[in-house]
Amino acid sequence: MPDFFIGGEWVGAAGGGTREIRCPADGTLVTTVDEGGRADAEAAIAAARAAFDSGPWPHTPAAERGDVLLRAADLLVERKAEFARAESLDTGKRLVESEIDMDDIAACFRYFGKLAAMNAGRVVDSGDPNAISRVVHEPVGVCGLITPWNYPLLQTAWKVAPALAAGNTFVLKPSELTPSTAILLMRLLTDAGVPAGAANLVLGPGADAGAPLAEHPDVDLVSFTGGLVTGRTIAAAAAATVKKVALELGGKNPNVVFADADFDTAADYAVTAIFLHSGQVCSAGSRLIVQREIHDEFVAEVVRRAERIRLGGPFDPDAEAGPLISAGHREKVEAYVAAALDEGARLLTGGRRPDDPRLANGFYYLPTVLDGVRGGDTAVREESFGPVLTVETFADEDEAVRIANDTHYGLAGAVFTDDASRAQRVAQRLRHGTIWINDFHPYLPQAEWGGFKQSGFGRELGPTGLAEYQETKHIYQNLRPAPSGWFSGGDPR
Ligand code: NAD
Repeated sequence: MPDFFIGGEWVGAAGGGTREIRCPADGTLVTTVDEGGRADAEAAIAAARAAFDSGPWPHTPAAERGDVLLRAADLLVERKAEFARAESLDTGKRLVESEIDMDDIAACFRYFGKLAAMNAGRVVDSGDPNAISRVVHEPVGVCGLITPWNYPLLQTAWKVAPALAAGNTFVLKPSELTPSTAILLMRLLTDAGVPAGAANLVLGPGADAGAPLAEHPDVDLVSFTGGLVTGRTIAAAAAATVKKVALELGGKNPNVVFADADFDTAADYAVTAIFLHSGQVCSAGSRLIVQREIHDEFVAEVVRRAERIRLGGPFDPDAEAGPLISAGHREKVEAYVAAALDEGARLLTGGRRPDDPRLANGFYYLPTVLDGVRGGDTAVREESFGPVLTVETFADEDEAVRIANDTHYGLAGAVFTDDASRAQRVAQRLRHGTIWINDFHPYLPQAEWGGFKQSGFGRELGPTGLAEYQETKHIYQNLRPAPSGWFSGGDPR
């Protein structure tokens, strides 16, 4: 069965291309999918354009669109086992993590399903009793949605759910490495009642199948989650047609631990912050910034815990973390660690592939801790997007804030302290889009997610996550039309 979904039909790649998807945990063949390029993306854009300009979805009452999203959430819960398995095979992540992702995705569809009819606009005071003035929200049009491989369906849901809630049509281009759940999603959305042409899917490499979504004049909005360099390319391409752009990019996220924090809690979260999903998380706490007086004891405890993390494949019940996504990505992480050591970092643990022969066919890398890094170092500035933690030290609150903000990224950060007022002060001074206090990683569909600085612009989730997919229009009506007399030409003298 072909894998692209265009105008409500399943079709193959125009050029006949295919790609093998292999599980990064052991290299086994998961599936072979169609691999497209520019012509396929353009066909999908044309279908989405026609569905927006003359299809039913933009004019379907918002409450009915919301009902479709609520049905999609119910169907996902019913099909959770199938979706979670597919996600784990593509990404290599533990099955339990994929199951949690599916619950979060259902919650995202529910949130936007309920929000759909609640953003109808407002009446504003025109200042004239004979005029009414309304501000209404309308869909933007055709949306190009480009997503990464680390949370394939979750990142997709953050875009698809609000785009549909607002009445848009879309073309989705998921990562070429992890297409399976996007294919399942098209079937699910159709079963939930999304009409033909409103949801379209093409697969293929970004430079071929993705680039047209940023460039094409018939696309009104491009929303991208991925790396900083790709984000710059997309923003530059989108500028030519002045389309709306949302960018969710990387992070170099500080985790600030004060000496008065609960030691066990802070150590537990410092490890989870970076080693969850082997560090392949945009908000991973990759920079541990710890107060000087507890540095030695705290870092020793983090290293002890890192060394006990059990690596394994998605269906290994004992595994606590999985492989990296690809051979190429592991090489990137290895090069990052080598550069850090060249710049003077001290390797406390990891820094190599595991010895376990059972892991030899997967792209595993040991949890790694690098101490003695300094502000300007590559290791502190660049994302590794792998299981690599750097350690910096501070003396007082001002220095902690300065170090935590010394990055061109600004996605997320955390502060661990027992002092509630200090926690609030530091949270307010950190220039990052999400701040956790005495916690790491939780996010809510009802709370905005996004980056400061070069972590991107625009927000996903929350009411702003819906507003991103809406145009705002002012409608002013004169209820007692009469000549204005502004110019004398219409006024008999
Ligand atoms: P990537 O930038 O390589 O690819 C992301 C997507 O963009 C893929 O679908 C890819 O095919 C496509 N793409 C690549 N080149 C393109 C081009 N020229 N035009 C259009 N599309 C193109 O990123 P990745 O390696 O898949 O993901 C990892 C990155 O994503 C990390 O930097 C991570 O921090 C970031 N990320 C951010 C968030 C967030 O919420 N801010 C969430 C997840 C991942």
